[in-house]
Amino acid sequence: MTERVVIIGSGPAGLTAAIYAARAGLSPLMIEGSQAGGQLMLTTEVENYPGFPDGVMGPEMMQLFRNQAERFETRFITSDVTRVDLSERPFGVWVGDQEIRAETLIISTGATARWLEVPGEEKLRGHGVSACATCDGFFFRDREIVVVGGGDSAMEEALFLTKFASKVTIIHRRDEFRASKIMAERALDHPKIEVMWDSVVEEILGEDTVTGVRVRNVKTDAVEDLATEGVFMAIGHDPTTALFKGQLELNDKGYVETFGNTSTSVPGVFAAGDVVDFTYRQAITAAGTGAQAAIDAERWLDNQE
Ligand code: NAP
Repeated sequence: MTERVVIIGSGPAGLTAAIYAARAGLSPLMIEGSQAGGQLMLTTEVENYPGFPDGVMGPEMMQLFRNQAERFETRFITSDVTRVDLSERPFGVWVGDQEIRAETLIISTGATARWLEVPGEEKLRGHGVSACATCDGFFFRDREIVVVGGGDSAMEEALFLTKFASKVTIIHRRDEFRASKIMAERALDHPKIEVMWDSVVEEILGEDTVTGVRVRNVKTDAVEDLATEGVFMAIGHDPTTALFKGQLELNDKGYVETFGNTSTSVPGVFAAGDVVDFTYRQAITAAGTGAQAAIDAERWLDNQE
């Protein structure tokens, strides 16, 4: 049997695509992955998703998305896709030995924030350690916080965080920023921002919440503990696109290229959410493009018939 719509990836983009495709009568098959739910599974409270005036925990929100997709008879496979073949239609999607054929494919495999992988980081994620200033900055009113990184994201996050924090320290491993000149200057000129150059975070300190970071100067090897209540990682994101390399057009950073709407370089393959978007990276924008992808897939199928 050939599926009409197969969706790979189960964050806000994928599950919204499933809800829309299911309600369009396309009976989508969602391959949700062994770690379903995407990046929101790693967050604590979400306060900026409309419709939840009192906030909602990230994992709970993803369960609600999934319940809604299930209600309209989306079918789920809780494993990872191991291979795809986009060279002919129907497309081939493999989950281990199981072969699935699909008339259309919606790719919503997301991206993952890069983490430092230092002691304390994993334990304190959502308790002072974050990779999203837009999501979590609000919790740091009048606190002193740290941003790690030296690219445009680090500058943007640091500048954004000055709206809440009393002081923002950017910790960067070299003696110059990678960020564009204009963004770097904005950060350097800001009265609330300080920079620790040539420095790496070696440990995040704290039991239940972050209390500080242990920082080593890479030039002098001097180690010091800096008191802080929040650590924002801004060392880049990696899109989950290894499966599609050589089959779909990707940009120089590995994100899926789309053309006008959610169409990719292969007709019948659509992409939505953070696997495409390296700019906004919000649950609400991912959900929005997920809806678009389902509508684009439905129209594409209609045009084929
Ligand atoms: P990025 O440009 O790759 O910068 C990552 C930064 O993190 C670099 O400064 C890097 O240091 C540092 N870093 C990486 N791994 C590290 C580690 N393990 N430990 C310590 N530091 C580490 O990533 P990005 O800032 O997320 O930006 C991604 C892309 O989006 C860029 O093209 C950027 O221009 C664009 N962007 C644009 C805007 C804007 O224009 N408003 C905003 C955000 C992002 P090194 O410098 O030493 O490599």
